[in-house]
Amino acid sequence: MPRYEFRCRACGDTFEVNRPMADAGAPASCPQGHADTVKLLSTVAVTGRGGVGSPSAAPAPSGGGGCCGGGCCG
Ligand SMILES: [Zn+2]
Repeated sequence: MPRYEFRCRACGDTFEVNRPMADAGAPASCPQGHADTVKLLSTVAVTGRGGVGSPSAAPAPSGGGGCCGGGCCG
C-alpha cells in the first residue's frame, strides 16, 4: 500500500498516511485533528538510481535511398 505524506497547515506537522491508491486524493487529518492539510510529493517508488526513462528504441524507417535504390547498382 503506498504511503503518502501530508503536512498540516494548522500546526505545521508532517505525517504519513498509508492508504490505497484509490484514496490518494482524499483529505487527511493530522494527528492533532486538524483538517487543513496538504499532500506532499510522494517518495514512493524511488528505488535505486539511473533506472528512470529508459530510451525507447526509435524505429528507423529504412527503405529507399540505399545503394540499390539510388541507381548505383545498375
Ligand atoms: Zn495539525
